[in-house]
Amino acid sequence: MLTNDQLTAWDREYFMHPSTHLGQFARGEAANRIITGGSGVFIEDRDGTSLLDAFAGLYCVNVGYGRSEVADAIAEQAKTLAYYHAYVGHGTEASITLSQMILERAPEGMSKVYYGLSGSDANETNVKLVWYYNNVLGRPQKKKIISRWRGYHGSGLMTGSLTGLAAFQAQFDLPLPYVKHTEAPYYFRRPEAGMSEAEFSKWCAGKLEELILAEGPDTVAAFIGEPALGTGGLVPPPEGYWEAIQEVLAKYDILLIADEVVTGFGRLGSMFGSTHYGLKPDIITIAKGLTSAYAPLSGSIVSDKVFEVLMQGTDTHGSFGHGWTYSAHPIGAAAGVANLKLIDELALVDNAASVGSYLKQGLTAALGKHPNVGEVRGEGLMCAVELVEDRGNTTFFDADKKVGANVVASMLKQGVIARAMPQGDIIGIAPPLCLTKSEADTIIEAVRTGVEEVI
Ligand code: PLP
Repeated sequence: MLTNDQLTAWDREYFMHPSTHLGQFARGEAANRIITGGSGVFIEDRDGTSLLDAFAGLYCVNVGYGRSEVADAIAEQAKTLAYYHAYVGHGTEASITLSQMILERAPEGMSKVYYGLSGSDANETNVKLVWYYNNVLGRPQKKKIISRWRGYHGSGLMTGSLTGLAAFQAQFDLPLPYVKHTEAPYYFRRPEAGMSEAEFSKWCAGKLEELILAEGPDTVAAFIGEPALGTGGLVPPPEGYWEAIQEVLAKYDILLIADEVVTGFGRLGSMFGSTHYGLKPDIITIAKGLTSAYAPLSGSIVSDKVFEVLMQGTDTHGSFGHGWTYSAHPIGAAAGVANLKLIDELALVDNAASVGSYLKQGLTAALGKHPNVGEVRGEGLMCAVELVEDRGNTTFFDADKKVGANVVASMLKQGVIARAMPQGDIIGIAPPLCLTKSEADTIIEAVRTGVEEVI
């Protein structure tokens, strides 16, 4: 077995990590952490330190770590049939069963699942589905996709363009043409202090309509949004938001893609964010919670309305020319089947609702009146504490002060992993859905101490 020092040296010499300061890491100026195991909401590193993972990896390990039910299903599938492709009508029991299970849980009106490996590639697929759809309908000019500032939809060329966060675009020549951004549904940062939530939602819908009219409605194909904003700040939508947005989309015959990579399979305390907030999507993106990240798998759930047109397309043009070698990978599918069963058996969706509300109440009680806490918000097990320089005037800290990152670092010293969200001083908390109330208390105490220590 390699020593910690050897592993660290190789890590710095050979491994290019995502979302990492490459120079600092290679030069040894930034810490590395080698993770060796996990159980429930805890992970362990090579130094033997146990950490409560209050961000479930990248809010994906929904059932928690170390679940033998999922691990055994993966092992069994790998021994029986590690791989076969899904092209030209091939399937496995796992991929077919999983499709039925997903559709059984999906919002009304959905028809089929198309599989990928990551949230990014599923959203790339979605854009292609939308383009194909409009080509079949004889409106090849209807191709633009609107997303929101602060939305996160992936890191590919198209999906990195849909993502509305500067850090993922600057230096990569993104966004590409075809992508337009509209206002984020971020009531805390509303343009006028006096606006009610309902007024702000109408304002957002008005801005969307202005953009559609400026671009030309016959050029706008789809709108993509997370039911509740994730990486952009963990922001539940303001009252009336989705109703107002969907009214505008219907008026101009624009498809709705609900990106449920984070919110799918229980995170908000409902199986899907779409049902939670009354969205009627044409396409739903799923990933993360689909397998609780025990194996990579994503999907695009396509509605009856879209699928009808896709079928017409293949009747005219022949087979649907889009696929990945690993679409519906049997190991991912087996992990998905076992994972969805476990979510039901452990009643994790209900647990996310009840422990999530306990967590939010606890955070509010501990921090809600702190002069530097602008807002405690959340839904289910997706919460955020937003830090501000002056709560009275809602002024923000200078980004260079890295207040949010420092609070997260202090929490880490206390044994709790939270995430400093990329834009603003926002402490993100999105633990595995099996979190208990006493583990929630540990998180609340760590945030409280972190805020006290840093500010
Ligand atoms: N969509 C949403 C809402 C996400 O949060 C993410 C990742 O965090 C993605 C898409 C991209 O998923 P992946 O990182 O698996 O490509």
